[in-house]
This record gives sequence, structure tokens and C-alpha cells, in this order.
Amino acid sequence: MNRSQPQHFRNRLLTPIQYVKGVGPRLAKLFEKKGIQTVEDGLYFLPRCYEDRRHLQKISELKAGKKETGFGEILLSGTAFYQNRKRRVFEAVVGDGSGTLTLKWFHGNEHYLKERFKKGRRLIFSGEVRWFNYQKEIHHPDVEIVEGEIEEDYLNFKRIVPIYSETEGLYQRTLRRLMKTIVDGYSDELSSPIPEEIVERQDLIDFSEAFRRVHFPPEGESLEKLNLQRSDGHRRIIFDEFFFLELGLALKKKGVALETGISFRAEGALSQKLLNQLSFRLTRAQEKALAEIIEDMEKPHPMNRLIQGDVGSGKTIVAVLAGLRVVECGCQAAIMAPTEVLTEQHYLNIRRWVEPLGVRVALLTSNIKGSEREEIYDRIRRGEVQIVIGTHAVIQEQVEFYRLGLAIIDEQHKFGVVQRGLLKKKGGNPDVLVMTATPIPRTLAMTIYGDLDISLIDEMPPGRMPVETRVFPESARNRAYGIVEEEVKKGRQVFIVYPLVEESEKLDLRDATRMAEHLKKDVFPAFRIGLLHGRMKSDEKEAIMMAFKEGKIQILVATTVIEVGIDIPNASVMVVEHAERFGLSQLHQLRGRIGRGRYPSTCILLAQYRSSEEAKVRLQAMERTNDGFKIAEQDLELRGPGDFFGIRQSGLPDFRVAHILRDTPILIEARKEAFRLVQEDPDLVELSHLALKEALMRRWKGRLELAAIG
Ligand code: ADP
Ligand code: MG
Repeated sequence: MNRSQPQHFRNRLLTPIQYVKGVGPRLAKLFEKKGIQTVEDGLYFLPRCYEDRRHLQKISELKAGKKETGFGEILLSGTAFYQNRKRRVFEAVVGDGSGTLTLKWFHGNEHYLKERFKKGRRLIFSGEVRWFNYQKEIHHPDVEIVEGEIEEDYLNFKRIVPIYSETEGLYQRTLRRLMKTIVDGYSDELSSPIPEEIVERQDLIDFSEAFRRVHFPPEGESLEKLNLQRSDGHRRIIFDEFFFLELGLALKKKGVALETGISFRAEGALSQKLLNQLSFRLTRAQEKALAEIIEDMEKPHPMNRLIQGDVGSGKTIVAVLAGLRVVECGCQAAIMAPTEVLTEQHYLNIRRWVEPLGVRVALLTSNIKGSEREEIYDRIRRGEVQIVIGTHAVIQEQVEFYRLGLAIIDEQHKFGVVQRGLLKKKGGNPDVLVMTATPIPRTLAMTIYGDLDISLIDEMPPGRMPVETRVFPESARNRAYGIVEEEVKKGRQVFIVYPLVEESEKLDLRDATRMAEHLKKDVFPAFRIGLLHGRMKSDEKEAIMMAFKEGKIQILVATTVIEVGIDIPNASVMVVEHAERFGLSQLHQLRGRIGRGRYPSTCILLAQYRSSEEAKVRLQAMERTNDGFKIAEQDLELRGPGDFFGIRQSGLPDFRVAHILRDTPILIEARKEAFRLVQEDPDLVELSHLALKEALMRRWKGRLELAAIG
């Protein structure tokens, strides 16, 4: 569709905001800063909070310790100095005849404040009232300059007033006036064709009405509910967002179930052989996951399953056992992992496991080049290789499989949806098994993995010792070294990890390299120390990993290349430098590299600088628990879903209003309704569902195909 053609205004919601009466090109630019381009975007620009201006209180009635709203005239304003003139504070004293109150700004552009808060101006202010020197004051209040008579101003007074998020040059009154124009002029165009039956069952109000109420709440609305975004209007809008997401996922899931795939009915002789030669027995949780996988594989439809199991729970062997069943049926299995180091490790382990059974394994990374690479391609194409292990290189166009039966994606949170889709496309509807150690909170699992079946490995192999985690300040560095020394002397091995943030990649690399030198020369001259980072050539990396695995290296200084998957049971100490720079889930992943053997392990988080309050909370959470689920919940809470590990690239539609943590109960209801609807009408062919289908397509905008391939 060409947006510049006039007829597109047939859908009036797509009208550029600029053409709304009173907006124009200048304000349109400011709206754009807020991500608002069309009238529809404008409607979704909901108030960030609400103020009760139904009855304006006198200043003398405002209570300290509460968030209050008042009205008055500026009697006096200017800069005041405190602490021997070291501290400048801009102040405005407002009065209304009943009393006075001081508004204070401790930072901000003084020139601007002076211009805006001139003596004689009248304003509405709100914020938490405090007592100071027998005076009431509010720090950094929300303010609104009042012009004209408030008695006649029914938009800004005498009601519950919406407060929007402002941007420089676009303030409350203007925003409120324009939003009123938009809501009055366009809210009728909105539609959410959720079937009547569901609307009734869920007690939903009319969709357009929901927007009207959320922007300009009627008299009787509860201020508290509005501010918690729990009003009926909010609920209706949030339900709509969740419902269409879940409907898409439900259809996707149904769709996969309807596709034909290969039914793998293997006797399991190969996998039994492997089980017999293993030095351990599967845990009950591993057995259960494997049984679920086998059941899926036997069905004539492609499997689409996620194995979720905390770091070290033993997902790899389960995947390999599944792979062997496919091999037994004459097909191939591919395993894709996100880093070269991990891929190498898988290659070494899996080869050790399956080659004695006569199964041929190939490694494919981007570092294998030229004729060697061509030869591997060839062997894959001819089916001479049965298990292919690789990085992204596996999904390159040139890679053709003889018969791909099972696509396994390890540490799937590291991959985008698109890449997963590509691997799946390498075969005629292969089974797909994705694995993740990132424990996804239930709510998130319902959204990003909403179309997958989930197997949980919720048990650790026996004999694991829990990892003790301790946060050390820089001043305790020597104590940390003491622990390292003790453990190495006992025969254990140690990881020392450096963060590698993209912006300062070079710098950190230098840090890590220097650190390795320093440790070698000054701190542990008697120990064997190695360095591993992402910029090294793959054979170098391989050699270092091998040396570490064989115990030839005792202390490995590494960047986060070791973050996922690496398995060295003899390693019992990890020191994380600049721990404050890592996210919780990442720290948990890193920590998962130790405590994999029989030894009690210690993870030392060195917080280098005086960390922020937020960082402190984060690191303390690591001390408190080893439970990946709890950590993920906390991470999600601290960072919000957008930043949560890997979600951003998930390819799912964004929520404009809904918040998966806050709104979980609505999510659960919406999911239930969506899945029920698809159960009853899998292709949405009923007449009453046509509009639904259209709305769905519009919201998922072509992502429907990709987003849920898993
Ligand atoms: P993750 O789930 O983090 O990918 P891995 O598959 O790397 O974990 O397994 C971690 C370690 O535990 C490996 O050394 C693996 O061989 C071992 N392991 C897996 N299952 C068991 C088991 N049932 N008993 C003992 N050790 C196991
Ligand atoms: Mg793993």
C-alpha cells in the first residue's frame, strides 16, 4: 500500500498525525519523537497517569506525605542558595489565599525555569508534599501553567485529568487538547472484532469506548484503578493486544499440527547402545523429556518442542538420543549452537558418544573454508554424514541436506526467529527441537513460545554441589585470589571472566589480555594460565579449550565466549570481573559453567566500581538464589520484557499498552479464549470470524509465518 495516496485515508486511522486539526508539520515532528506518526498511534498514546481535579483543594488543605494537586498564583520566584552557596535551587512560592507552598527544582535549566515560572502566573501543580522549615514544599512538581478561566475549562479542570508524557515543546495543555481532537474525531474508527461470545464472557466494554474512557475518564471512574492501568478501558485494550497475539500463536500451533511431517518409528537400538555405554544414568526428568520427544517424533506431524532446563541439567544428551532415532530411520540431524566454542565442544562430546556406534558427525563453522568446506557440503548432501553440528554456518544457502529429519537449536535464546525458520526450511518439515537454559518465566513462555510444546528438565544430575555465590568489592580482590589459589592447589580449575561489551570491545580485550599477563607474572607465577576470547582464530580457540579440558591450563581468563554451554566438571571457581556490567540472566548462565562436577564451587562477583543501587540489588539476587527461574523473574522485573534476554529479536508484535508482568491475569484469560476459538474454528472460516482474520493479519503484518516456527 502506498501511504501517500489519498484513498488510503479510507482507513482513517492511518491518517498522518500532521493532518489532525491543530497539529501541522511542526508539532507532527514532535509527535514523531514519541513514535507517533498516525492517528492510530495517537490513540494508543495513553496517559502516563491521571490527576484528580474534580475538586481543587486549597493549599492549606494539602497534606504532607501525600501526592497532592493544588492550584495557585506565583507570588515570588528565583534562585536560592544553600550550603554556603554551593547548591543552587530554583524556587517558586505559590499562594491561593488560604496558604502558601514552595515548589523547588534542584536541577534543570535555570534560564528556562525563570522564563516559565514568572511572578503572577497561575498554575496547577502536583507531587508529593513535604514539610521543610515549617513550610510545605514539592520537589520537581508536575506543573501546568493556566491561562483563561478555570471555571469554564472543562478539559483541564473539574474532572480526572489525563497526564501525558511530554516532550520539549509539546506540553500538557497542548497535548490534552490535541488528544481530545483525536479521540473525538477518530476513536469510532477503531475496531477489535473479538466475537460477541467472548466479549460477554470476559465482560469487555466497547473498544472505541475504552479509548475514550482511558483518555478522558468519566466522572465516576476510580482514580486508583486508572493509575494502576486497571480500569475497564485499560483492560479492554490490553485484552485486545494479548488476544490477537495468542490467536496468532494458537493458529500457528494448529497449523504445524496440520502439516505433514515424517513419522519416526525407530526401535531405538542406537540410542539404547549409547545409553549402555554412558557413565551415568538419565535422570527422571531427562527420561520424561525424552519420552515426550519420542512421542512427538512418532506422530506424522512435525514436532515443535522446547526443552527448558537450567544450566547443567543435561539437555545435550537428550537431544543426541533423539537425534539417534532419526539417524536410525535413515535421516539426518542438525544441531545449531550460537558460539564456535560451544559448537566445538558439542562436536568433541557428541563424536565421542556416537562414533563408536558407527554414526558419522561433521562440524561446520564459518572458519572452515575452501575445499574442506566444499567437501563437508558434499558429504552432507550425499547423506554420508548423519549428524551435522555447526554455528550459523549450518543455515547457509549452500548447505543442502540429504534428508534432514531433526533440527536441534541449542541455546535458542541466542538466535532470532528468522534463523530458526531457515534451519527448518532445510528439510521437508523436519521435527524441530529447541533448547534453552534461560528459564523463561511462565508468562513469557506463553507469549514468545506460545506455539511450542514445552518439556521441562527440572532436576539436576545427582551429586551436584550447589554453587556458593559471593559479591566482593574491589578491595577484597586479594581474598578472591586466595580462594583461587587454594582451589588450584587442590587440583581444581578456575574461570576468570571479563565482560565484553560491544562499544568497548577493544578496550575490554586489552583488559582481559593484560589481566592474563598480570596473573601469570605477578599473582600466580606457579600456575598455568590461558586466555580465550572471541577474536582468536578457531584452531587457537580449540587448542585452548582442549588444554583446559585436559587440565593443562589451570586458570582460564576468558571473555563471555564461555557464557553458554561450556562444560568443564573440574572447574570449581569462577571470578567475574566487572560483575556490575552483566545482566542477571547472563550471570546465571556464566555461573552455570561451574558446579558441574562433584566439587563444591564458588562464584565470586567482583563489583569494580561503586555500583549503582540497581546493580547492588541485581548482584545480591545472585547471592541469594541458584534457581534460574527466580533469577529470570527478577531479571524481567528489573529490566522489563523488552530488554529481557533475547526477547527483542523474537519477532513477535510489540505491545503498546500491555505489560506481560503486570497484566498476567489478562494474558491468561486472553490465551484461554484464543486457543478455545481456534479449537472450534481452526481456519477461522465461520462468517463471524472473517473480520477477526483480517484484523489478525493486519496486526501481525507478515510476521505470522515466521514468528512461531520455533
Ligand atoms: P546443559 O543442560 O546445560 O546443556 P549439558 O548437557 O552440557 O547441560 O550437561 C552437563 C553435564 O552433565 C555434562 O557433562 C553431561 O555429560 C552431564 N550429564 C548429563 N546428564 C547426566 C546425568 N543424568 N547424570 C550425570 N551427568 C549427566
Ligand atoms: Mg547446553
